[in-house]
Amino acid sequence: MIRRRFVQSALSLAAPPPSKTHIVSLSFDDGFKKSFYKIAEIHESLGLRACLNVIAIGHTAQFDIGRLSSGGANTNVPLGGFDDWNKLKRRGHEVMAHTYDHARLIELPLAQAKELIDKCTAYFERNLEGFKTGESIYSFAYNASNAELDEYALSKYLGIRTRGGAVNPLPPRRRAGCVSFGPGNCDAFVAAEIDKFLASAGGWFVFNAHGLDEEGWGPMSSAFLTSLLTRLSKLPHVELLPVGAVLQREAKLKL
Ligand SMILES: [Zn+2]
Repeated sequence: MIRRRFVQSALSLAAPPPSKTHIVSLSFDDGFKKSFYKIAEIHESLGLRACLNVIAIGHTAQFDIGRLSSGGANTNVPLGGFDDWNKLKRRGHEVMAHTYDHARLIELPLAQAKELIDKCTAYFERNLEGFKTGESIYSFAYNASNAELDEYALSKYLGIRTRGGAVNPLPPRRRAGCVSFGPGNCDAFVAAEIDKFLASAGGWFVFNAHGLDEEGWGPMSSAFLTSLLTRLSKLPHVELLPVGAVLQREAKLKL
């Protein structure tokens, strides 16, 4: 009886509520300072946690901002630093690793790419409060990875986010596929993808967003983000969660 009670209580903590058939993660990359505070505020206004992924050296003079500007995206805006990321993390938001310097790892020799993943990990361990690699997500730059890089990152991290379909099966796997849209505004694309997802039997929808309004590649308008989250948070079968929170819950379930 004791054992059964323990199992039931562990499941009730870890498993998605049975009524929630559709999990949605809006995963924001790169760390545009103004956008990321605004993304956090919008989530907070609805009692939600934002999913924020930042570049280890994005705030330093040595970072090549040109790596964020493909296709004419507006990246001539400041990136935040770890003072900002620690503040947002203390406010309850999820802050995860989005590379050391935003290199396209699949174009580098494997040893060099692995070294950059290690440098990213070491930087986050030193600078982001409470960061534990084994409980964290590594999101590849440009969602560009391959089997060797996936395997290496998964040997260190709880999960990875990389290229794939927008909808992942449930229960969730440690390799989260996602889609993205740019370089122009992504509102219409996301609205259409969400409608398709809501009409489906369910799963885990992961969209890789960047900045808000005029900032970054494929920006989302803040009005659209507010209305989308407001709408989704009212649907009884939909759960809005950061990518890491989904996998952390799944990991606990398997203990
Ligand atoms: Zn990026």
